[in-house]
Amino acid sequence: MHASQLRPLSNNEQLVHQKRLQRVGTQYNWALLLAILVSVVCLAGPAAAQAPPTTVVRQGHVPADSLFKLFYVPIEVPAGTTEIRVQEDYNRQGGNVLNMGVYDPAGYRPGTTAGFRGWSGGAKTAFFINAQSASTGYVPGSVQPGTWHVLLYPSTIAPSGLDWKLTVTLVSGPAGSAFVAAPAVAAVNNQPGWYQGDLHMHTLHSDGRRTPAELVDEASAQGLDFLVSTEHNTNSANLSWGRYARPNLLVVNGEEVTTTAFGHWNALGLAPTTLIDWRYAPQDSAIATYTAQVRALGGLAIINHPFFPDTVNRFQFGVRHFDGIEVWNGSWDARNEQALRWWDELLRQGRSLLAVGASDTHTAAPSPNQLGRPRTVVQARSLSRAGIMQGLRARRAYLVADRYLNLMFTAQAGRAQASIGDTLTMGAGQRIKVAFKLRGASVGTVRLLGANGVLATSPVAASGSTTVQWQLPPGLPRYLRVEVRTPQGAMLALTNPIWVSSQ
Ligand SMILES: [Zn+2]
Ligand SMILES: [Zn+2]
Repeated sequence: MHASQLRPLSNNEQLVHQKRLQRVGTQYNWALLLAILVSVVCLAGPAAAQAPPTTVVRQGHVPADSLFKLFYVPIEVPAGTTEIRVQEDYNRQGGNVLNMGVYDPAGYRPGTTAGFRGWSGGAKTAFFINAQSASTGYVPGSVQPGTWHVLLYPSTIAPSGLDWKLTVTLVSGPAGSAFVAAPAVAAVNNQPGWYQGDLHMHTLHSDGRRTPAELVDEASAQGLDFLVSTEHNTNSANLSWGRYARPNLLVVNGEEVTTTAFGHWNALGLAPTTLIDWRYAPQDSAIATYTAQVRALGGLAIINHPFFPDTVNRFQFGVRHFDGIEVWNGSWDARNEQALRWWDELLRQGRSLLAVGASDTHTAAPSPNQLGRPRTVVQARSLSRAGIMQGLRARRAYLVADRYLNLMFTAQAGRAQASIGDTLTMGAGQRIKVAFKLRGASVGTVRLLGANGVLATSPVAASGSTTVQWQLPPGLPRYLRVEVRTPQGAMLALTNPIWVSSQ
């Protein structure tokens, strides 16, 4: 259920590639060449006084060796056009997938998002845009005359290649009232506390099955305090969360920056109109630019499901450019175990990356990815975008399997005390006392871990309320963190570390 992506081409390569596509198409069929040229079909318009819609057809062939190569199909849009409709057709034999998006005349080249007007990846084969509305995944607004570019991106190609056709309908007539963005409010309250959130989800604005309204209803019913909207490569949902406001539910804007070829990452805490570009290969300079763009907005860049079973989704960007890792995606499984091991290795190297857990929910139907399972609980100064992002940045967060679990984890050395995300400073000869409380589980094992592995274990109390205190032997464990697992080994709760340093 994940959208797809790329190996970007340089501008020269794009031109060569487009020419090659046209050449291949010509070899196959003279009729295709004719069809590549503009064909005009007149249809009866809804209002007799208006000019009839114009239909433009483009088509071509993508050979199997063009996997993950982006190409852009130019469409001339005349003045007076008030709606653009695009229908994509391609042969599905052999599992072909041709992702789609669109840019208006304000700019389409990788590195600019000025002309971005939507992306549906492989989840849709048709969209429309007019002044007041658009298909989900696409951005409403006036249809500017000039050259638009439909972005096509093959993420699976059969050995025989992929034949594609775009049918573009340009409608003129009254433009209608302009779309007014209604982003989510930036703050729900100013109360400090531990807030439960889901950091990763999809609606109809990408490849999810629920409307935004259905998602916020379910989030409220699940007891979530906040959610982060993370559609694949589009900000269209972020422009309208304010229309679906629910009391005591904060919506934070985000985006799942999605490349099939190199992996997925979440940009959390964006401005509603921000779009983070995804069209680059794993060169350090490119990814550094985009993760810096996220941080400059007060956001965080998180590596998603780094061991997704599909090998093309293995994460290939440098971990040093990121703030954290989604070590828990949906129900606990082997790929989460692998992500946890990787995160722990990085901690041992002294890299204090944030661990997050999130559902990556796409549907309300039974699936391993149910909203709020797992969830990340964040200590924040307020239930606000700035408060939640600051809490996450400080790594004051723990992860739980469901809404009924909560915990408290502190460490003490002499008079110094530290909680999750803090650094405990130890004096000479001091020993660390650890306190841990858990509610909402009645079976399983609590494990206290440091850089050298398990430091202590304790059973979860059958009463559903567990309180543990440990006094550690002398020594400097570098960091302390807790895992709570079921007897079968599935994760129930996982903390970010308390770091330990000597005076
Ligand atoms: Zn993903
Ligand atoms: Zn996702």
